[in-house]
Amino acid sequence: MTDYGQLEHEVDAVEGLIWDVASHVWEYAELGYKEYKSSSYVCEALEQQGFAISERGIGGLETSWVATSGNGGPCLGFLVEFDALPNLGNDTVPRRAAAKSGHPDGHGCGHNLIASSSLGAAIALKNQIEKSKIPGTIKVFGCPAEEMLNGKNYMASAGAFSGVDVCLHNHPAMVNTVWNFHSTASIDLWVEWQGLAAHAGVAPWEGRSAVHAMEIFLVAVNMMREQMLPQARLHYQILDGGKAVNVIPDHAKVLVRYRGPSAADVMKYKSWLLDIARGAALCTQTKEVVTNLGGIYDCLPNDVLAECMSSHMNRYFPIQWADEEQAFARSIQKEMGKPEDGLATTVMPVPTGVEVGGSSDVGDVSWLIPTMGALYSAWPLHIPPHQWGCTACHGMSIGRKATHQAAKVMAATGLDVLTNSALLQAVKAEFTKQLNGRTYRSLNDSPVNLSSSLDDAERHQYDCCIHAAIEHFGIQEHN
Ligand SMILES: [Zn+2]
Repeated sequence: MTDYGQLEHEVDAVEGLIWDVASHVWEYAELGYKEYKSSSYVCEALEQQGFAISERGIGGLETSWVATSGNGGPCLGFLVEFDALPNLGNDTVPRRAAAKSGHPDGHGCGHNLIASSSLGAAIALKNQIEKSKIPGTIKVFGCPAEEMLNGKNYMASAGAFSGVDVCLHNHPAMVNTVWNFHSTASIDLWVEWQGLAAHAGVAPWEGRSAVHAMEIFLVAVNMMREQMLPQARLHYQILDGGKAVNVIPDHAKVLVRYRGPSAADVMKYKSWLLDIARGAALCTQTKEVVTNLGGIYDCLPNDVLAECMSSHMNRYFPIQWADEEQAFARSIQKEMGKPEDGLATTVMPVPTGVEVGGSSDVGDVSWLIPTMGALYSAWPLHIPPHQWGCTACHGMSIGRKATHQAAKVMAATGLDVLTNSALLQAVKAEFTKQLNGRTYRSLNDSPVNLSSSLDDAERHQYDCCIHAAIEHFGIQEHN
């Protein structure tokens, strides 16, 4: 029987640091690809605790890094995220109110707690295995831009996760459970048409409307829905629909996100979308240009690893919430017109065979190595993520308690992986079973092994993808 008491002590010893990191990242509230301060803060905290930063700027992503400690033994990975969401800044009060700093953006998905929980678990486990002379290597991955579904997929293509035996992650939620469900694979395409501008009143026949191409495209895309699988999703956002009503628009642009149950399904419908884009161009005598901003895989479950992590969820959750915290949560529920049931007070069993419509770039990692995540109550029941009430909870004592306990769950699961070889074998066997002979091949158009193997043309194409991914969310590039 493993004694987890010493490990709990190691987590408790860095509780102040865990919350310091969570609070700083919460305050910085930087959007994807722009997490310069957040990324550095987490990275430096790990360095100060004895981790070596072995890689930076992986796959061309400036705010990514790998922090490593240990030598030999099984290699355990922890995933860190730190990006915020636009316009979700909020004070730590149970109503819609601007952040004290006036910052418009906020951690409405709690990625500040993802950063702090993984950091706390990694440091505590490192200290424990050093003291107990347990062989093992710990790698912490700083992963940018999860909200844009484009970070870990590029890191995976660059080989960042090779040599890792098991990867652990975490996410705040409204309930306590483990991430043992199957999420959707997804791809983002930026579809544009180039036409000819002309005076819309004097000589419209001289023009060729790019907006007409986009309209035909969207009509056809919505008809395609009837032939999509029930698990598939399709969303689009018009980014350019012309600039002036008296000009035949020579440019139109739409961002399309297709989600499906598998990478193979995504590739099948991507090809259909390209045909529709071309068809729309033929109809309107315009020219289509499609940019693949990046695709991600579905998340592979792992029942064995999920059972292990769930045993620790039951050890450290549910949290004993203070009356003020439950009152805080009920106020948010009241504001949002939801049942006033407060925060979760139970741990749910391991989900098996569950399909969800959402996606995460953790999917790419889960296809390369056995991967599992802790989901823990850090915002009120019935409240969806990506709104102000979550931001509020993630910056006060609810978030603080949640990240502390989540760090314990991850550290204890990690200790099991490093010390129980039979478990590690069983986890790997389950991974092989889930893969079922299928192999991972990136859904990004360009490349693999970026630094060395790309020629200039490939490098240019790759850079374009990254820049497009940055640009399409309306974010200024860093210079
Ligand atoms: Zn999230």
